[in-house]
Amino acid sequence: MQIWLFNPPTDRLSVQALQTAGVSTIVTSGKTTDMAHENALYDVFDHYAMIHVFTSTAQTEDQAIDIHQQPVQWFNSGCPNSPTIRRRFYAEMERLLAQPIRGVFLDGVRFSSPDSSTNPTSFLSCFCSQCKQDMTSRGYDALSITKDVQSIAEMLCSPELTKRWLKALYSPSGWMSLQMAYPGLADWLNYRVDCITEFVQELAIWMKARHPHKELAAFLFQPCLAYFVGQGYNRLSPHLKIVSPMIYRNYQHRPGPATINQEIATMARFVHEASRLPFSECIEDLLRILGPKIDGDVPQDPQGPLAMSIEHATDEVLAATALAGSQDKVVPIIWAGDPKLRQILAELRGIGLKNCILFTYEAGLASHGEGFHELYAQG
Ligand SMILES: [Zn+2]
Repeated sequence: MQIWLFNPPTDRLSVQALQTAGVSTIVTSGKTTDMAHENALYDVFDHYAMIHVFTSTAQTEDQAIDIHQQPVQWFNSGCPNSPTIRRRFYAEMERLLAQPIRGVFLDGVRFSSPDSSTNPTSFLSCFCSQCKQDMTSRGYDALSITKDVQSIAEMLCSPELTKRWLKALYSPSGWMSLQMAYPGLADWLNYRVDCITEFVQELAIWMKARHPHKELAAFLFQPCLAYFVGQGYNRLSPHLKIVSPMIYRNYQHRPGPATINQEIATMARFVHEASRLPFSECIEDLLRILGPKIDGDVPQDPQGPLAMSIEHATDEVLAATALAGSQDKVVPIIWAGDPKLRQILAELRGIGLKNCILFTYEAGLASHGEGFHELYAQG
């Protein structure tokens, strides 16, 4: 298995050390992309650059709007349908693709998740006039969607109703009951997937026309959470060369949007704060509903650590493979600081994975964990 590095150090000595260790492919973001260009790292490594997709602007009309019609900030992003945001994104794509990189990784190609903002209602977005118009033009009933998402927001403020649904959703028939009680909720999630799929499809067509030799890849939420933020693996994968599930099973730095441990913990905290049900009950129910196997104990308060098992991580990679239709396409990104890094890499090798990416924002050999060279030596 090849291990690619996210944001490696770019000074000459470190680059030589990485080459000696056997690193062949890197993915960079922000300033590290600029440093990689300055130091001509594309001569040394296969180089992909990451691009943040729906970057917010200073303009009010580009902000995402929540179900209460209030503007919300999420993951430094605005409304995915904002024409200005999309225009700026394409301009940035042109700038990056003018460099001799192999391709780009999309980041944040989605709608908001619970942990993408400190505002609990950012997940319940976007209900701006552009998005509602877009729902209608795709054949959705924007009024029904708005009404049912509002009902869910109100329901979360009732301890009795929240408790009832948290228990009911243990079973598939509970999900069916929820869908029948609030049909607009499923339409809302389907709309999000339609919107993001079409964005990526248009982008893939543009890439083929303007940069036919460069690759389009995307960092995606892991499959058990992806549909909630508008990412349908089966629909996105035909347009992507690489799909990269973000498998951070126990990410410790906060905030950690997209990491399953923090997304679920934040979801539980928001439900607890709205409903006043005990946090421990909310998180236990959510873990049972969403189904991930955990490593260690369930935290009893919002600050407690939560970790998913290694088995959960491999299950999610297998799910991504099944949904994407090809294992060659799946290059998961895992947290370099995972204390069980060797074990997780061994498990990924065991399921026949060809490539994976080690993630860290703290560039440097030391931050990629103990025995970095040994990891490479194992291949
Ligand atoms: Zn919008």
